Amino acid sequence: MYSVSALDVPLALRLPKKTVKACESAGVHTVGELLSVPPRRYDHWGRLTPMSSLREGEDVTILAEVASAHLVANRSGSGVRLEARLTDGTQFLSATFFARNHYKLAPIERLLTPGRSFLFAGKVGAYRGKLQLTHPSFEGVDGDDVERVASRPIPIYSAMGSLASWAIARAIAMVLDHVEDSDVPDAVPSAVRARNGVLAHADALRRLHQPETDDDYRQARRSLAFAEAFVLQVGLVAARAGVRAVPAPASPASPALVESLTALLPFELTDSQREAVARIGVDLASTVPMQRLLQGDVGSGKTVVALIALLQVVAAGHQGVFVAPTEVLAEQHAASLRSLLAPLGERAPDVRLLTGSTPPAARREIVAALASAHPLIVVGTHALFQDGVRVPGLGLVVVDEQHRFGVEQRAALSGAREDGRAVHELVMTATPIPRTIAMTVFGGLDDTRMVGKPKDRSPVATYLADATNGAWVRRAWQRAAEEIAQGRRVYVVCPRIDPSDEVADAEDEDAPPLASVAEVARYLRSQPALAGVAIHELTGRTPAGVKAQIMEDFSCGRAPLLVATTVVEVGVDVPEATLMVILDSQQFGLAQLHQLRGRVGRSSVPSLCIAMHRHELTEAGRARLEAFAQTNDGFELAEADLRLRKEGDVVGAGQSGTATHLRYLSVLRDEALIRAARKEAEALLNEDPTLGGHPELRRLLRAGSDGRLEWMQRS
Ligand code: ADP
Ligand code: MG
Repeated sequence: MYSVSALDVPLALRLPKKTVKACESAGVHTVGELLSVPPRRYDHWGRLTPMSSLREGEDVTILAEVASAHLVANRSGSGVRLEARLTDGTQFLSATFFARNHYKLAPIERLLTPGRSFLFAGKVGAYRGKLQLTHPSFEGVDGDDVERVASRPIPIYSAMGSLASWAIARAIAMVLDHVEDSDVPDAVPSAVRARNGVLAHADALRRLHQPETDDDYRQARRSLAFAEAFVLQVGLVAARAGVRAVPAPASPASPALVESLTALLPFELTDSQREAVARIGVDLASTVPMQRLLQGDVGSGKTVVALIALLQVVAAGHQGVFVAPTEVLAEQHAASLRSLLAPLGERAPDVRLLTGSTPPAARREIVAALASAHPLIVVGTHALFQDGVRVPGLGLVVVDEQHRFGVEQRAALSGAREDGRAVHELVMTATPIPRTIAMTVFGGLDDTRMVGKPKDRSPVATYLADATNGAWVRRAWQRAAEEIAQGRRVYVVCPRIDPSDEVADAEDEDAPPLASVAEVARYLRSQPALAGVAIHELTGRTPAGVKAQIMEDFSCGRAPLLVATTVVEVGVDVPEATLMVILDSQQFGLAQLHQLRGRVGRSSVPSLCIAMHRHELTEAGRARLEAFAQTNDGFELAEADLRLRKEGDVVGAGQSGTATHLRYLSVLRDEALIRAARKEAEALLNEDPTLGGHPELRRLLRAGSDGRLEWMQRS
């Protein structure tokens, strides 16, 4: 039986027209949508202050009766105000509410009728020598126990169009009055709620909006957070199960080939690499589609792990695709795969490069090769999936640096086989992800973590340097010259391309301008210490063809100093690079800084990272830089980053309006809740794989996106 949920009722059936209009302008159309507007915070009525002892500047709560209330036009001619005279029987005090026009004040006037008693809370001000309250919060207490009312938390909402907090509270109260708890569906089954101390949805909503005690709204928030986590996890687990139900081509392990490759590599695999290779090898040999997240710190050697996986697939007669987020990276990956494979000679599979810059003829040829199911490896960017490229022989997709990669591309990839079969999928992250994030965002993926680095690496020493300290700055450039004189490479990273380039988070105007690639390159070229050193510039505006040449010049040492934006941030691999100078490093996020640092320290030669920053730092900026200098461990930094960020920065805003939009769940605080929800989700789907017995859950999941949230937005 299908019953209409009390939450689906249009607000127009419950609220005055004007209120409905204001709600609708804020995208809130139904009872459920209004009830899911969370209070921003809760205020408290204070201890009652007798009217006789009010003092200017104090925050007070008073109990008073309305003696009179009048609308008055402001003398200036603009706007009106409502003047209410309040009394405790002996003293009088006025409360004033201002507005542009009397319509706005009419609802307050209707409530503040003479003879009724209210609690008023606000700051005592003075006007023309008389004490008054301006825009106090108020709550009727007629017939109610004053103590009880006074102990209630006051929910404070962010204004919604023309609706102020108190008006939202009234609208919610009107709506709640009509809600039958039994008509409010629960996404979380009652057994699950009972096990996890979670309130029924209706109860949670009431306690959220009309709490009697602080505990009420805390429980409500926790319950709503659990519900969010639960829906999200059911979605992730179900999606995973759906994928597993479709077979992928199996690629039996080919130990001989892998052995001969590893024997020919210029290095020994680390233990972590071996373990990852073994796990992935087992996955690929099966027809159950692999969905694995490979996490490893910058420079931990994920590429070679991916290569061995690709080799296994190609050796079994399938095709492998390796997707990179940028052309520079795709080119690098193609080059390094080819050089790692070179010792195999005849037995090395074809590695082809397909990006947006691939000339049409070459592109046609690669597309045809893919369509022919001839076993090969194609490395590429998004261009790989344009115009429905067909890859019937696809056995494995490796996605590098996932968080730059959209949901659509991944969907396009899954569609690339066209024959209804699945593919194995290996997702590699650019930087380690905190566990809670991995669970909420990549919850459908198996997680493999590679710890440690190849043993011949010396750690990168990190120094913070105040850019106003001339001695430090001179020393840094001196050091750059020394490194280059010894045949090494130096990166200099700036937040801007040229002086006119606006940076996203605009600085205050008094601050000195941020370093730009154009200016810094010009400055460095004029430095006697660097005379004769070829200096290239690399930014997002550099044409693709030129980019490749610049990277080549840098890599081989023809132009050993590269001034760049964060285009060098991800994955670029030049082992001879030993110095990374980051200018205006306060501009970058912790993950970015760590990525940048990861461009050096790629050989046994000791490397250095100098993070220059401006003299004035925000508290958050300083904390970030200090955390950065304190540890080289990406997993640790990921956790630190999460602690230093605000929730809103972590979980992207792009998901608002979908069922997976997180309003209450905090990936900062709610790890335990997320874990519990995960367990329950798995148990539920085991019992009821199609969710036939859980219509509300099904409805929410259908309404939602595929459950992925952008976990980190880069600044
Ligand atoms: P990331 O995990 O950041 O993608 P890469 O795969 O780019 O790291 O590897 C960084 C560098 O380390 C490459 O030059 C790669 O050839 C090299 N490398 C990978 N594994 C090892 C190892 N076990 N020993 C030494 N060098 C290695
Ligand atoms: Mg990499």
